[in-house]
Amino acid sequence: MAAGRRRVSVFGATGSVGCNTVSLIEDAGGAETHEVVALSGAGNVALLAAQARRLRARIAVTADPARFAELRAALAGSGVEAAAGPDALTAAAAEPADWTMSAIVGAAGLAPGLAAAARGGVLALANKESLVCAGELVKRVCAASGAVLVPVDSEHSAIFQCLRGERATEVERIILTASGGPFRDWTRAAMREATVAQAQAHPNWSMGQRISIDSASMFNKALEVIEAQALFDVAEDQVEVVVHPQSVVHSMVGFRDGSILAQLGPSDMRGAIGFALNWPDRATLPVARLDFAKLARLDFAPADPERFPALRLAREAMAMGGLAGAVFNGAKEAALDAFLDGRIGFLDMAGVVEHVMADVGPEAAGHMAGYGLETVMALDAAARRSARDRVASN
Ligand code: NAD
Ligand code: MG
Repeated sequence: MAAGRRRVSVFGATGSVGCNTVSLIEDAGGAETHEVVALSGAGNVALLAAQARRLRARIAVTADPARFAELRAALAGSGVEAAAGPDALTAAAAEPADWTMSAIVGAAGLAPGLAAAARGGVLALANKESLVCAGELVKRVCAASGAVLVPVDSEHSAIFQCLRGERATEVERIILTASGGPFRDWTRAAMREATVAQAQAHPNWSMGQRISIDSASMFNKALEVIEAQALFDVAEDQVEVVVHPQSVVHSMVGFRDGSILAQLGPSDMRGAIGFALNWPDRATLPVARLDFAKLARLDFAPADPERFPALRLAREAMAMGGLAGAVFNGAKEAALDAFLDGRIGFLDMAGVVEHVMADVGPEAAGHMAGYGLETVMALDAAARRSARDRVASN
């Protein structure tokens, strides 16, 4: 920071959260005001190279080793160093930076996120899977390095904002809002036949394909319940979920005096990303301003446990404890892969996760604290194997 330019890295720069992050950094002056250390992507090498050139990044990493030559060619003459593969990703995350966005999708984001956490600075965490799989480990590594975790998931950013200046000991409950996704009012019979295109058509938010489908099944909200428990150190029964179709109230915190604080805003991820980018300050952001007269009403309803079993499964994982979250997430990712490939139906995803939790969950539950990344990734792999066996036997 001494030279004035803030050192930033963005992992998952080519995705939905990543592109919004890059654009907010450009709005804030781009390479003039930021020293961009590393940007990462996976398949979309042309976009990654274009971002790296515009921001004059030091390193651009594709997670896919097979695309190294393509990336190097796209960066020829730019002065940006090209790198490829998971180890290069983790090495880039260990390079000194003041602020890091962790926006890779899935458990693949855990290793680079931990490397960034270990070298300190602000860790803007969109990759909720890190906390679901290994919340205790992520917090332990941050505590050791002094890294500050700022959540980017809109709900958790909302809670984080509501807790500014408040005392954690006075929190009674956390109320996560859920849009209900595209199938909020569908029957179970209709959901059984749902296609990938229908499942990824989110009514309010523009997001990557995987999180959009997770929103339709409410597996996204299920992950977020576990994420909230890990982030805010509350008991399982202190985290509630309420369906709120307008996605204007991003989440709420209830205190022991019965008072509730809520954070509201447009359903635009640039709000939560911009908050994390500017934390501890608030900067002017290019998001729409709410017009309450136009909104007129805000609706709330309970989530239907029959059509959305993901929420119950998350509570079971939390009750199991230890690393059950890693198994839950690995099973969910493999079940989603199978749905995307047309091997199982939309509602079968929950059945696969339920099976894997019974199969691998007990082995994971014993790891309460002090475990390492290898243990987490081994359980993730075991969960995926169990899920694939289940899908194959369907
Ligand atoms: P996305 O699919 O749009 O982008 C994912 C990024 O990760 C891309 O840059 C992609 O190249 C990279 N990537 C994919 N597979 C990879 C791998 N195996 N190794 C390394 N990199 C890989 O996803 P997204 O919607 O931007 O979501 C990113 C993360 O943020 C997820 O954890 C998601 O749950 C969370 N999140 C997203 C939103 C949103 O609005 N999109 C909101 C809240 C939380
Ligand atoms: Mg969210």
